[in-house]
Amino acid sequence: MTDHRPSPVRLVRGSVLRSARDVEDIDSATETLLVEAVDDEGRVGLGEADTASDAALVLLQMADAHAWNAGIGGRVTGMDPFLAGAIHDRLVRATVFQGAGIARHVISAVDIALHDLAARQLNRPLFHLLGGARRDCVDPYATIYAGPVGQRTLDEMMDETCALLERAVSYGYRGVKMEVLFGDLASDRDLAACIRAGRDVVGDDVRLLIDFGYRWNDWRDAESLLRAVESCGIWLAEATLPHDDLDSHARLAARSSTRIGGAELASSREECRAWLDHAKVDVLQPDVTRAGGLTGLRRICDDADARGVLVVPHCWKTGIAAAATRHLQVATANVPLVEHLDPRLWNSPLRRDLVGPEPRLIDGRFALPEAPGLGVTLDRAIVATYLEERA
Ligand code: MG
Repeated sequence: MTDHRPSPVRLVRGSVLRSARDVEDIDSATETLLVEAVDDEGRVGLGEADTASDAALVLLQMADAHAWNAGIGGRVTGMDPFLAGAIHDRLVRATVFQGAGIARHVISAVDIALHDLAARQLNRPLFHLLGGARRDCVDPYATIYAGPVGQRTLDEMMDETCALLERAVSYGYRGVKMEVLFGDLASDRDLAACIRAGRDVVGDDVRLLIDFGYRWNDWRDAESLLRAVESCGIWLAEATLPHDDLDSHARLAARSSTRIGGAELASSREECRAWLDHAKVDVLQPDVTRAGGLTGLRRICDDADARGVLVVPHCWKTGIAAAATRHLQVATANVPLVEHLDPRLWNSPLRRDLVGPEPRLIDGRFALPEAPGLGVTLDRAIVATYLEERA
C-alpha cells in the first residue's frame, strides 16, 4: 500500500452481469456493464454503465474500424490513468461516428474506472483527484419504489410505498423520493391523494421528491397536479414530461412553483446545456454512468453552476455508480443531494452484493469516504454468479 508509482493500464475488461429480465419493471440494477481497468501491478479500477449492456460490450471490445469509429477498450490500453480527462476527450473524438449514445455510456464507465484506478495508485480517496471536498458529508435521498404494478390495486401499491417510506424515515433519511409509477391505476386526483399520504408518512422535516415516470404529454396537466399538491412542499418533480420535449419542460418550469428536474437520460455535456438554456429546468439529473463519467459530470456541474442550477444525479445501478456519485457530490458545491438506492429498501442482488462495503447512514448522512479510490471492492463470486455466458 506504500507504492504510489503511476502505472499504465494493462487491460480493460468488460462483463455483462444480469440478475433478472422483466420488461414490466423499471429496475435498471438488474443488469450492468462492468468495466475493469487493470494496471501492471494488478490493481483494478471499477466502472459501469447504465445502458444497453450487450451493445455496450460490443463497443468496448470491437476492433478499430477507422480513426473516428474506434473500439473503446483498445484505445485505453497502455494509457496513464491519471490522464482520464484527456483520455475521455480522445475517446469521444475516436467514437464520433457512433453518436452520442451508447458509446458515451461506455466512455463513462471507462472514465470512472480510470479515476478509481488512479486514486488507488495514489492510495487516496477518489474525490482527492477531483480537487478535494467542498462539503463535510454526503447527503443522500432514498429512492422508494414499490415495484411494477402487476395485478395489484392502487391501495396495495400505496400500502407498500408507505411501508417503505416509513422504513426510510426510521433509518434516518432526511430525503426520500416516491416513485409514483401507478399508470392508469391512478387518476391525477388519485395521484394527488397518494402524494399527500406520502407527505403525511414522512412528516414535514424530510425532503420529498417525486418521480412521475414521464406521466404526462401535456405540460398543463403536470402543472395542475403540481399546483394541487403545492401544500406538500415537493422538493423536486422528476420525469414529468417526455424526456426530449424541452419546450414543454420550459413552459412547465416557468409556470410551476415546484423545482422541475430533467436530463436523467442525457449522454453529453451539449445535451445538458440544451436542458439548461432551452428547457430551463431547476435541477439537472445526469447520470455519471451515462454522461461522460466523472470528467463529463464535472463539466456539466460547472455549466449548471454558472447558471445557478443544481445537479442531483440520477443513479440506479450497483454500488459502483453509487460510490462514484458520492465522490462527485463531495467534490462539487452545486450537488446538494445524491440518489441512493438503499439495498435494505430495494431488493436487487447486483445493487446489494456486487461491491461493498455500503456506507453507513449516520444521522441521515454518510461520512466522507476515506478508503482508496471509489472505496468499494468487487465480489468475484457475485461476478461469476451473474456473468452472462457470451456466445
Ligand atoms: Mg427516476
